[in-house]
Amino acid sequence: MSESPLIIAIDGPAASGKSTVAKRVAAALGIVFVNSGAMYRAFTWWVLQNGIDPHDTDAVLDLLARTEFTCGEEDGIGTIAVGGVPMTRDELAATNVNAAVSPIAAIPEVRERLVAEQRRYASARGVAMEGRDIGSVVFPETPYKFYIDASPEVREARRRAEGIDDSIAKRDRIDSSRKASPLVIPDDAVVVDSSDLSADEVVETVLAAIRGRLGE
Ligand code: C5P
Repeated sequence: MSESPLIIAIDGPAASGKSTVAKRVAAALGIVFVNSGAMYRAFTWWVLQNGIDPHDTDAVLDLLARTEFTCGEEDGIGTIAVGGVPMTRDELAATNVNAAVSPIAAIPEVRERLVAEQRRYASARGVAMEGRDIGSVVFPETPYKFYIDASPEVREARRRAEGIDDSIAKRDRIDSSRKASPLVIPDDAVVVDSSDLSADEVVETVLAAIRGRLGE
């Protein structure tokens, strides 16, 4: 009997440091890092690229039905192409994408489609996947759930330091209050507040908890 792939779920609000942590945890464990937010961003970019108003749900869903997503891997990092176009960091972090992604990610049918892609991807390989609903909705059965938090001030400062124009307070509000899979802390998640910790310290805390459960 083959063992099912290792799945590490890492959730948290915008700019909590979860991407950095998930990337390094994946590298340490030899599994693939997947940024699920990149998938919501990729589809948002595609909506804007097609001249569709992100608030026109019917038009967004019509496009979704005609859109193909291709999830791959490069050097241990998950990649995404939408409508055959490979996404780069610049497209995914564009200011107009930042502004439109949360309303689009609040549409239940969009989530259903992307969650199905995420589950299919992880059925074939181990992943450290980060997002908002990875432990609560996408992989509720994994025992390896983490919630990385940080104070709003620290998160705003991190985005500013990256030179990214991002209304994270507004995104947090939409992400936490939407009906479909809002950002929540799963009951059995290990919560790490990264406000006063270095990235090394957060990574070590997460790896220690995983190794403890793996019995190493
Ligand atoms: O992680 P990141 O901040 O890049 O995610 C961008 C947006 O994608 C979030 O603000 C949220 O609206 C949406 N998202 C989501 N569920 C996930 C990952 C991201 O709704 N699992």
